[in-house]
Amino acid sequence: RNQLLDFSRNLRIDLLQSYKSLHAFLLDPSRTELRDKVHAHLHNAIGATQQLLGDPWVITQGQTATVTALRKGLEQLASDSRHLEETRLDPERQYPSLAAGRVYLQPNRNAFNNDIALAISETAEQVGEGESLDIYDQLLEARHLWDQMISNFRLYLANRVGSFDEGSLPIQAQAIDTLYEALQQKLASLAAREDDLGFETAIAVTDMQQHARQWHQGFQRVHTIHKSGTWRADAVLVKTRIEPDLDLITTQLRDLENLIADATAMDMQTLSDIARTQTRLSWLIGGFGILFVILLLISLDRLVFRHLRMLTTAIENEATGKDGVTLPEARFSETGNLLDAFRSMSRQIHERQDDLAHQAMHDALTGLPNRSLLGDRLEQAIHHASRSRGGFALMVLDLDRFKEINDSLGHPVGDTLLCEVGKRLCSTLRDSDTVARFGGDEFGVLISDADAASAAVAAQKIRDALARTFEIGQLKLHVAASIGISLYPRDGQDTQTLVQRADVAMYVAKKNRFGHSFYDASQDEFTIGRLTLINDLRDALAQQGLQLYYQPQMDMAVKEVVGAEALLRWEHPQHGFIRPDEVVNLAEHTGLIIPLTHWVLEEAIAACSQWHASGWRLSIAANLSVHSFRDHELVDIIDATLQRHRLPAEYLVLEITEGTMMADPASAIEILGRLDAMGVRLSIDDFGTGFSSLAYLKQLPVDELKIDRSFVMNMEHDPNDEVIVRSTIDLAHNLRLDVTAEGVETESGWEILAQLGCDNAQGYLVCRPIPRNEFDNWLARTTGRAGGENAVG
Ligand code: C2E
Ligand code: CA
Ligand code: CA
Repeated sequence: RNQLLDFSRNLRIDLLQSYKSLHAFLLDPSRTELRDKVHAHLHNAIGATQQLLGDPWVITQGQTATVTALRKGLEQLASDSRHLEETRLDPERQYPSLAAGRVYLQPNRNAFNNDIALAISETAEQVGEGESLDIYDQLLEARHLWDQMISNFRLYLANRVGSFDEGSLPIQAQAIDTLYEALQQKLASLAAREDDLGFETAIAVTDMQQHARQWHQGFQRVHTIHKSGTWRADAVLVKTRIEPDLDLITTQLRDLENLIADATAMDMQTLSDIARTQTRLSWLIGGFGILFVILLLISLDRLVFRHLRMLTTAIENEATGKDGVTLPEARFSETGNLLDAFRSMSRQIHERQDDLAHQAMHDALTGLPNRSLLGDRLEQAIHHASRSRGGFALMVLDLDRFKEINDSLGHPVGDTLLCEVGKRLCSTLRDSDTVARFGGDEFGVLISDADAASAAVAAQKIRDALARTFEIGQLKLHVAASIGISLYPRDGQDTQTLVQRADVAMYVAKKNRFGHSFYDASQDEFTIGRLTLINDLRDALAQQGLQLYYQPQMDMAVKEVVGAEALLRWEHPQHGFIRPDEVVNLAEHTGLIIPLTHWVLEEAIAACSQWHASGWRLSIAANLSVHSFRDHELVDIIDATLQRHRLPAEYLVLEITEGTMMADPASAIEILGRLDAMGVRLSIDDFGTGFSSLAYLKQLPVDELKIDRSFVMNMEHDPNDEVIVRSTIDLAHNLRLDVTAEGVETESGWEILAQLGCDNAQGYLVCRPIPRNEFDNWLARTTGRAGGENAVG
């Protein structure tokens, strides 16, 4: 639009310039350059319309006709201007009165002048004859009037054309008319005196009247023209042609500009309408968006968030153990799945919690309550009894010789037996009583509402029940139990004391083979709390309170010391010497057996390595416990210890009982295999007391059998034992194993064994187990020197 308006502005400028130039030219037509200017500007303007015609807006808005009209107007103006200019350059066309003068005035004036000159000259010739002089004077006067009239006319013309004094024009015209009237009267009076006039003069006067009249008529024409305002053709043309042209052009131009302005305004309107519509639309969309989001949130809240919130609360309750929230039915499968997942998780957690609670409170093997559940029941019983002034009994029950069954027949049998014992205990006792398993072969029994007498009856019932044969698979087993009993409130007011005292009573029962025994304060000191003993053992192990004794083993053929067995000794500061199998049993019950065995191996290997350093090429035998096969570090520790003391592995003999191997055959085979691969020698201890089969033995990397001392010590009196010893030696030799006899106490025993081909002997006959320094002395004495060959001197 701006470009269009620019066009129109330039067009106006061109128009103005051409108009100005035209005016200047009209004032001074000698300046032809102005004429050129007029047409140059008009040409520009016409060119501009040409450009406008190509403008897209003009075309699209259907304004081509308007512009074409404008152009036509301009062309018209140009042609009219040209006409005007030509008119202006031609004085006759420019001033129409001039033409009139030439046509009407000039001939009459000339004629008049001739006539009067003729008349005067004829009359002058006749002066003196009649009236001639007067006529002559009259003629002169007429000529004077005529000349005056003509000169007035000249002045009149000069004033008009030259525009010198337009105001005097009417006066001059008046003067001409007056002079004309006077002249006509004069001529008329002359004409009236026709007879006085000469012939030519008479004709001339008539002529003069006619010419004067005709001239005056011509003047009146000129005067009319002059009065009419059309006396200048250019002014008329300007008025009649140029100005209407300009008006038309200006109007057209203004219309066009208005159109453009309107279009612009309309565009603005359209734009602002669009903007307004868009704003409205934006608000509408925004509103809908917000509404949608709100609806979405509401439905999400209904369908999902609410469920999630409830789920969260439920989870929190679950976590804190509060009662659950009733969960809604979900409408979406996802939420539904989540809720289902939560429900199933919650159920599983509860089940697992129940399981855990049950596990925490029950023994895994027998399903009986465990020690802590019994503890709870005891608390309850104490609470109850203290209010009702009643009493109850607590029994601690330990199976006799269970370890042997377990070791020799294997864990599965042992486990089944424990379960059966549990069942039998439960069926023997009342429902209100609690049977618990403490671990191992130890049970605890709470007899509610009991005194000493009823507790004794219950104990007897238990013993009777257990005395019946247990049938496990093909096996028929007999089990006996030692029962210790403590009574509430007599023996203790709290759980711990009651349990401890029942325990003491049980030890007393076991030791004395009493079957059952009530807690007696006087026994307390003698039996020692097992707990304190365990702690003492732990301390002893940590503080070098334990000792190893060494018992030599002798090659029977050459009578040379070939090795020694390391045997554990514990001299308790208060309780004195405690038997090694008891120490081992204690350690096995507490897990101390693992470090204990490590300590024994370290000591024994160190001693042996020093003997080697001193020249005695002895082997050293150490005993492994059943727990050693659960000690994953054992093989590495043995290897490291041997390396550290630079003792070749073949000098280390590990003694294992059959029961120990049978307890966990798979581990036994694996660990023994690794030890054998290292070069360590393996010996089966207490051979003959167990149930080992030949087939099983063959699978093991065994190097040696040790015949149990009970057979050796008895063989001189009991032929059965002698058969066992003999067949053992044969069997061992068939399997390419060495045989060592334990418990060789007598010379005769030695002889028999020597005859049977037994390889080595160990027993009091040679030497009792003795401390390290004594053993070194003994060795020196026996071999006859401090170190060197092992032969007995
Ligand atoms: P064991 O391995 O069969 O040890 C041989 C036992 O026979 C030793 O009893 C020894 O003193 C005894 N003995 C040796 N010669 C004779 C004899 O001529 N006559 C008689 N009557 N007895 C003889 P000790 O030292 O009391 O050891 C008992 C059991 O304690 C050992 O039986 C062994 O099973 C266990 N034991 C000892 N020290 C250790 C140890 O360091 N670790 C492990 N796991 N068990 C050990
Ligand atoms: Ca042994
Ligand atoms: Ca033995």
